[in-house]
Amino acid sequence: MRALSALPLDDDVLDRIFTFCPTFTTLQSLILVSKAFYTVYQTHPRSITRAVAYNIVGPALPQALRAIRYPYGDDEVEPGDREYHKEDPDTMATTCPEEHEPSVITAEEKMELQENARMVQSLEDVYSLTQKDRTSATSVLTPEESWRFRRAMYRIMLYCRLFPGDRYTLDDIEELEEEGIKQIQKQRTAVLAEYPTDELLQLYAVVRFLRGILEHVIGDEELATNLAQLFLSLGPESILDAYEDRNYDILEDLLGYSILEEDGDTPLYIGYFSTPLNNIWAARKVTAPPKEEEPATKYILDEIIGANDTCSQCPSLGGLKLITSANWHRVDLQPTQFLKSHLKQTYSISHPFSQAVDKLRLEHAAATREENKRSYPGFKLDFDDDNDGDNDIRTYLPPQLAQFLPDFNKLVDNDPTRTSPAPFYAAVFATPKPSEWDEWTQDKSYCQSCFNRFFEENAWRWYLREKIEGGWNPPEDCWYGYNCKTMVHKQAHADSKNHLCVPTRGGP
Ligand SMILES: [Zn+2]
Ligand SMILES: [Zn+2]
Repeated sequence: MRALSALPLDDDVLDRIFTFCPTFTTLQSLILVSKAFYTVYQTHPRSITRAVAYNIVGPALPQALRAIRYPYGDDEVEPGDREYHKEDPDTMATTCPEEHEPSVITAEEKMELQENARMVQSLEDVYSLTQKDRTSATSVLTPEESWRFRRAMYRIMLYCRLFPGDRYTLDDIEELEEEGIKQIQKQRTAVLAEYPTDELLQLYAVVRFLRGILEHVIGDEELATNLAQLFLSLGPESILDAYEDRNYDILEDLLGYSILEEDGDTPLYIGYFSTPLNNIWAARKVTAPPKEEEPATKYILDEIIGANDTCSQCPSLGGLKLITSANWHRVDLQPTQFLKSHLKQTYSISHPFSQAVDKLRLEHAAATREENKRSYPGFKLDFDDDNDGDNDIRTYLPPQLAQFLPDFNKLVDNDPTRTSPAPFYAAVFATPKPSEWDEWTQDKSYCQSCFNRFFEENAWRWYLREKIEGGWNPPEDCWYGYNCKTMVHKQAHADSKNHLCVPTRGGP
């Protein structure tokens, strides 16, 4: 059919082209090309918009739409004024179903879909790197695996928005009493019971993954056991933020109370996912419900790449745990742990060494931010650090006032623990070293102990070079080099000789 467009293109072809747009912005530009284009678009706006939404979100579109469309409740209503815990579980579970007739996707929904798709993609990248293939920083999940992961992630998002950790203060929770908490447990079970068992197992696997991220960010094992359940309720987007920030302050801020002051024992969040899931396994007589001590990735992944790989330098089996450049940013370090022998205990060496490592990390983080600013025009950092530019107070103030406010970005910039240690690892690999290290290149995989050994033997070489490049003129080498015990307690000796060198004599 060629009537409407009056172009050397069939309207059907144009309609098809519309449906291939990778983003809503592309679609918008295309519609505005000419009146004829616009007219063709107007014949099927719903199906075209849905097709583009599908390009952005993929086959998990029904779940993505439900997560943003569900009528969660009015933000203006105080929890005390609306008795969420008294709402009917079945109504909650069946409201705004995933499967429905194609509908108009509003401008606001388009933005939310795009935003969430970006977030889920980032989480999938982390999942892929930690559970599927340690050598790729971007996801290598198969389309089927990716679909399982994303469908589950959007359902988790919905669940966390229905039962958010920031809804009740600790006093509210006390007022709910056992009865109210039981009621909420029923609602949670009903919401999850809408899904078939295999898809619930996939959801369980993704919950385990999110909990793993939280445990990694929290660090302390005992604290993590208490906190992870509660933090899960803040939803995937907050968990990703904490992961990227390498810090869980942001989660505590969201909760609105300091969990460390309490004992972390909030009955409403114990078994946040596991209690309703266990109810369902029991009700459905699932023969082999998942076990805490077994990996859950089998519910999402058909294959793990390099699961049986060994360290490049020793026979240690490491699989996904092996360290390679793609996952360096996950290897947290105390820089001085990498200093050889007595260099560690010599403050006049270990302290400036740590500072040099921090400086490298901060400079690299700043350069990455600059790079981002260049690649996304309009990109502007703000103090909530979500990069949407809406929160930089200084832009709302006259410049003569704004200059007195601290640059919130700078505050974040000055904390090296919130930046990736990867630039330091790269710098040590790039430092010239004796030929015995020729086989140790940054693209190879290492077990933790070989990785540590490599850095212990070479981090000081990087530091020596760094100092010389900064204008340092090294004094004569001490015979005992990094093994010298005198430098630890005699400052004058530490200063008068160079100890960043291999010993030429045994024990002083
Ligand atoms: Zn090894
Ligand atoms: Zn010495």
